[in-house]
Amino acid sequence: MRAVSTPRSLAALLARLRRDPRRWGAWLALAALVLGTGWVAGGWAQRHETEQRLAALRSAQELHALGLRGVIGKYGYLPAVVARQPAVRALLAQPGNPVLRDRVDEDLAEISRRADALAVYVMDPAGNALAASNAGTPESFVGRNYARRPYFTRALQGGTGLFYGVGLTTGHPGLFVAEAIRDQGQVRGVVIVKLSLDKVAATWARATDPVLLRDEHGVAFLATYPDWRYHTTRPLTPGDATALRDSEAYGHGAVLAPMPWDVRPATPAGAFVLHTRIGGRAHSFLALDQTLPDYGWTLTVMTDRDEILQVRDQAWAMAALLMALLVMAGLYWRLRERRYAEQRSARRELEQRVADRTRELQDAQAFRHAMEESLLVGMRARDMDGRIIYVNRALCQMTGYEPEELLGKRPPYPYWHPDDMEKHWSDSNASLAGRAERSGFESRVRHKAGHDVITRVYTAPLIDADGVQQGWMSSVVDITEQTCAEERQRAQEAQLQRAARLASLGEMASTLAHELNQPLMALSNFAAAAQALAEGGPPGLLVQSLQDIRAQAQRASEIVRRIRGMVRQGSGLAERFEVAEWVETVLAWLKPEIQARRVRIVLQLPPGLPALLADRVLAEQLLLNLVLNALQALDGQPPARRRIELSARVAGGRLVFSVADHGPGIAPEHAQRLFDPFFTTKADGLGLGLKICRSIAEAHGGALSWHPRPGGGAVFEFSLPLAP
Ligand code: ADP
Repeated sequence: MRAVSTPRSLAALLARLRRDPRRWGAWLALAALVLGTGWVAGGWAQRHETEQRLAALRSAQELHALGLRGVIGKYGYLPAVVARQPAVRALLAQPGNPVLRDRVDEDLAEISRRADALAVYVMDPAGNALAASNAGTPESFVGRNYARRPYFTRALQGGTGLFYGVGLTTGHPGLFVAEAIRDQGQVRGVVIVKLSLDKVAATWARATDPVLLRDEHGVAFLATYPDWRYHTTRPLTPGDATALRDSEAYGHGAVLAPMPWDVRPATPAGAFVLHTRIGGRAHSFLALDQTLPDYGWTLTVMTDRDEILQVRDQAWAMAALLMALLVMAGLYWRLRERRYAEQRSARRELEQRVADRTRELQDAQAFRHAMEESLLVGMRARDMDGRIIYVNRALCQMTGYEPEELLGKRPPYPYWHPDDMEKHWSDSNASLAGRAERSGFESRVRHKAGHDVITRVYTAPLIDADGVQQGWMSSVVDITEQTCAEERQRAQEAQLQRAARLASLGEMASTLAHELNQPLMALSNFAAAAQALAEGGPPGLLVQSLQDIRAQAQRASEIVRRIRGMVRQGSGLAERFEVAEWVETVLAWLKPEIQARRVRIVLQLPPGLPALLADRVLAEQLLLNLVLNALQALDGQPPARRRIELSARVAGGRLVFSVADHGPGIAPEHAQRLFDPFFTTKADGLGLGLKICRSIAEAHGGALSWHPRPGGGAVFEFSLPLAP
């Protein structure tokens, strides 16, 4: 099995699409299936990846919150410890005591250094800093009032005041943790520890995913990207603005710009997608908020959303690819199946054809065998040297020899007639040289049983399938019976004719009278003329008249002789004469009648007519009678119709002559009796003319017939034998 090559399949596919545009629908559906599968898979992968990422974000959130709480918790005890210092309490009781203040400043500096705080300081209930760890430095808090800072107010209200902001004095950001110092329910002062969250920020900066911490006003104060700091994540309300201005959390008169984010909500609640640019590059993050209620802050952790989209796209591509592969595999499978089916059907067709052909050959074989067996014609095949290579049953029966006695034999063959050996040799040589007559030749053979068989042999070349002559095939017809029958029939016919002629002897007497009538009338006319001339006419004309009388007398005697001859045997004397001559003779005799009637004779003789071979006198009589009848038929016809057409043609080796007139034609009631003896419609008619004509035509092996002429008139037609 040959593998299906892709280009060929593709070309075939395109060709099929062009032929049948309905297939486009199927292809579009397949394409939609591939794309749809990719889309569904991509969606699923995106959801799955988002869930995974969200779970990771939640864990990261917990971790960051814990870290934050750890840092803040580490310093949470510190204000309480400071508040319990006897020196601090003493200073709060005597704020103006410089000794006490110096001491407290020193203590606070020591505590701050040990605790790794940015600063530790103590304020009186009015918000004035009495002592500070940084006393004596240019940034010293001592003597300043921080009453408007929120951590102070919150500490006064009880509990821990927590506040992240930029130091009013130092300008450094930090987390302020404040605690009130109480005595017998009265607030005596406030202790503040300022912490740095830089370590937390440094940890976040190292993390791969961004983290952000914002205050209750939505202002980011700690972030992985320093650029995000002190930007508002939501529009500030008037309350927020007032609070920020009053607390100066991010410095005096600081203007907070909105975060350069484009935020879209996402599921689940609390999650959102943000698009931003970092370092000039576009980024998109999936972010999750978590509020830290005890601090009033919100912690936001983010993860790169482009990676989720990448996962989605990969899944999409993989699924589409897989589906496309499946579709291709399906198509390939279908194509292969179709090809197998085609091959199967082609094989079946081939087998069927082989079976059909075999059956045809068997049938042809059986047919040939049956034909050969049933043939009455003997068949004999010989090779180019005359060796017999095939004989059929009929030939064996015809000659009395078995096939084995004939096959392989060369001339002389066993059935050759001993008396005709010479003719056999010459016939055989002529056949083998390809000179055999197509119409065959007669051959007398000697049957094995001793009797003679007369055959007719037809020979044709034996050509094989390649067109090469392999020998000669002869068909041999037994004509013994036929030859004898013909002989018998010929004898019988002569006998019959003779009987018929004898039977019509009486008829002949009348015929004689009719035929003689014409010359006798002529004799009488010429004699009358001679008589008149003898009485004083010119002697030359007398001689002419006497010659005519002699000629007519000879003619009468000739007629008698011929008719006697006819009664005796066959037609009289066959002689050779030209057609034109014969017609001219008859027309010359009839000239007076033609002229008297003003009839036009139209003679149409094709050039090169062969000569006739017939009894000339009878032939003349035949034509004379027919033209005379035609002339008589034109009596009473208008001049335009006074025309007789004489024409001749050669057909079947004989001359066919026709006499056509433009007379009234033959009435239907007369047609039947036309050739009956003594049938006439003329007052002076004898009714023997046509009868005699038919006898003459038949005596010459022909016939006389008539048919109506289209346009009026009658056509009489007869045939006479031509000279070979
Ligand atoms: P006859 O001429 O003596 O009558 P025929 O045997 O020659 O005898 O003719 C028999 C009849 O056939 C004629 O009387 C005539 O009625 C008819 N006949 C012969 N030839 C023609 C012809 N050319 N046209 C019409 N009628 C014909």
